[in-house]
Amino acid sequence: MQKQSFFSLTMKDLAEALKGLGKEGFRAQQLFRWIYGMNTHDFEKMTNLAKDFRAELPKMFDFTLPEVLKVHKSVDGTTKILFNVGAGKSVEAVLIPSRGRLTICLSSEVGCNMACKFCYTGKQKLQRKLETWEIVGQFVQASRLLPPEERITNVVFMGMGEPLDNPEAVFKSIDIFQSEWGFNLSRKRITVSTSGIVPLMPLVTEANVRLAVSLNGVNDQIRSEIMPINKRWPLEELLEACREHCRATGDKVTFEYVLLKGVTDSLADAKALHKLTRSVPCKINIIPFNEHPESGFHRPDESAIIQFQNELIRLGSHVLRRKTMGRDIYAACGQLTTAVKKAPAPLSL
Ligand code: SAH
Ligand code: SF4
Repeated sequence: MQKQSFFSLTMKDLAEALKGLGKEGFRAQQLFRWIYGMNTHDFEKMTNLAKDFRAELPKMFDFTLPEVLKVHKSVDGTTKILFNVGAGKSVEAVLIPSRGRLTICLSSEVGCNMACKFCYTGKQKLQRKLETWEIVGQFVQASRLLPPEERITNVVFMGMGEPLDNPEAVFKSIDIFQSEWGFNLSRKRITVSTSGIVPLMPLVTEANVRLAVSLNGVNDQIRSEIMPINKRWPLEELLEACREHCRATGDKVTFEYVLLKGVTDSLADAKALHKLTRSVPCKINIIPFNEHPESGFHRPDESAIIQFQNELIRLGSHVLRRKTMGRDIYAACGQLTTAVKKAPAPLSL
């Protein structure tokens, strides 16, 4: 029988698996504490476990983690980690330090089928969905790169892929991240970002974590042009799903809005964005476009970005500009790639 991956099991799954192997269920808590809580990977160090049990562990479960191919560090402290996912493909996770937090941006799929026009990942069709152990593994491997006193404090599913296109693995990994015996992340520190798969958005509400929505267009015409998913679930349905999430959780939604020069960055767009979003308790995160080869889009000039933001502030929206992090190493939003060798040469800023 094939061994189950340890990193795919929630606490409940692990307790059941252990019972099935004739072991005590509470060992699950001890294992979560050692492996996730204490970041220990040497079974010999797990001193409250009997020697025989420790020796059996590798026979009971598969402890393989995704292989780290490369670690790139940006001048701004952002770290991009490239993982081998087989068949010449890779996924990337990004560690972003900011204001006392350390956020990991995780990938959920190899490529993405949503085909948003401005996104580098979207140019690489979906090759496969990641399994739970590959998502949890990004976190575990990244944690291992840190000095012992540092911890990852926040998780955002904003890397490669559409998390709601791979809900089973994504929500299982969220369960694992929240276990009090393991990483013990609170619900407020986990954010799922979606391009708007409306019927699956209640899963984010049920998991009781934060919701971010890639809005990017202020009316159905422009949004459908740059995000084909809008043809299937247009804006009004999307906004209603957001309102529902707010009602049920009491949270605000974060709307991500990519500024594309001459496409989404006019003052009229800022006004329309304010009007569109004011019926939803929300924050707006504006993201100046990050360039990548052959996208056909451009980043607006700094003055246009500032004017856009100021107009929203003037109108009373709660708006933040997402700081561009890791642009020199191609780690910024929408720049991640699946091909091991395809990443463009680093930019000089
Ligand atoms: N698939 C999910 C999660 C990825 S999040 C989603 O789309 O929500 C990636 C975020 O980066 C999205 O908000 C997307 O709109 C934005 N993005 C994509 N390409 C970008 C680029 N080239 N420059 C800036 N932001 C980009
Ligand atoms: Fe996929 Fe998100 Fe990129 Fe759209 S923006 S192609 S949904 S990863």
